[in-house]
Amino acid sequence: MTTSAQLFEQACRHIPGGVNSPVRAFKGMDRPPVFIERARGAYLFDVEGRRYIDYVGSWGPMITGHADPEVLAAVRERLDDGLSFGTPTAIETRMADLICEILPSIDLVRMVNSGTEATMSAIRLARGHTGRDKIVKFEGNYHGHSDSLLVKAGSGALTHGEPSSPGVPAALAEHTVTLPYNDLEAVEECFAKIGNEVACIIVEPVAGNMNCIPPVPGFLEGLRRVCNEYDSVLIFDEVMTGFRVALGGAQAHYGVSPDLTCLGKIVGGGMPVGAFGGKREIMSRISPLGPVYQAGTLAGNPLAMAAGIALLSKIREEGFHDALAQRVETLCNGLQERADAAGVPMITQRAGGMFGVFFTEQSQVENFAQATSCDAEAFRRFFSAMLDQGVYLAPSAFEAGFMSSAHTPEDIQATLDGAEAVFASMTRR
Ligand code: PMP
Repeated sequence: MTTSAQLFEQACRHIPGGVNSPVRAFKGMDRPPVFIERARGAYLFDVEGRRYIDYVGSWGPMITGHADPEVLAAVRERLDDGLSFGTPTAIETRMADLICEILPSIDLVRMVNSGTEATMSAIRLARGHTGRDKIVKFEGNYHGHSDSLLVKAGSGALTHGEPSSPGVPAALAEHTVTLPYNDLEAVEECFAKIGNEVACIIVEPVAGNMNCIPPVPGFLEGLRRVCNEYDSVLIFDEVMTGFRVALGGAQAHYGVSPDLTCLGKIVGGGMPVGAFGGKREIMSRISPLGPVYQAGTLAGNPLAMAAGIALLSKIREEGFHDALAQRVETLCNGLQERADAAGVPMITQRAGGMFGVFFTEQSQVENFAQATSCDAEAFRRFFSAMLDQGVYLAPSAFEAGFMSSAHTPEDIQATLDGAEAVFASMTRR
């Protein structure tokens, strides 16, 4: 048997850090990453035959569990017709219709291949539409790795201690204004000074790349108001929250309508897909309708569309998201009870199908400064010990956790039993 440790060593020969995306490397976790062979439902199975209850779900897409039979069948059905044509196909229209039906703020939508492409293109569109260069984002929000957005970012950019990356030209970064999350006053102050130069505000309507931080009441509403006042474009990056916090995403959950929405993850059912869309007036500026250029050789790929449509169709079922949120609540309450009983300072935060665990004495975490002040060493011990208990959490204190409808009450109970043992071990030094 080849172990994960051996595979990691082999991987490091020709892949930077042995991984094709940095957070996978388990950096700072004092152990090599687990190599997964296959997955089904709520479970991952590693190359050494170990089973894990998975709360990463391929970083979000697997909202009905891994290897969903209906998603796989939809892909299989298209497979023999060919992988890509580079022409229009009817299935792209079906996807666009479906997205616009689920998200009423979207009149027109363009498919791309990743969340990064979605946000990068939405930013270009907002700049092209307004004729302004400056953009406003929030500290600890992650919107993919395009240059304008890799400034004080979350996720791997944060885990790896490089909130901004070398290689991002200062001349470009200076157009990106970064403000504290959940701080409407800071936004109002900024707009009072330079509002007429700001093309857009881009925001994670629930922050999921510095752990899980929901918006405080009035924050999203305030962003909407400020954008209206200054004719700036409000972009919700719903790559993570879309179809997860509620079917209609955070915009449905919190009742605030953005001008543009970025999608990814669930929309592709596990295939490499992203999308951006919104108001007809703005989206009509995209090529070939308008002058703002954006394109993609494999965009709207038929297999990817088939997977995404199958998944979206499945989660439209009445009550799906309520049941998902209920599972998250059971898990979070159970973790809280056990941490309290063991005397481990920990809180949880959640929104619909996503959640976060913070090792802190604070009663609430609302922004980047508070998120980064949590106990990193406690998280490392928790993560590693949970992995030994057969529970796969994101290998970073700055990532949200994801529930799926495949997680049974027994899976959640097993997770809580594991956590109880882990909390007990954490209070023993
Ligand atoms: N936006 C958000 C909110 C994300 O969480 C992510 C990825 N986790 C992205 C954008 C980038 O998506 P991708 O990794 O598909 O490029």
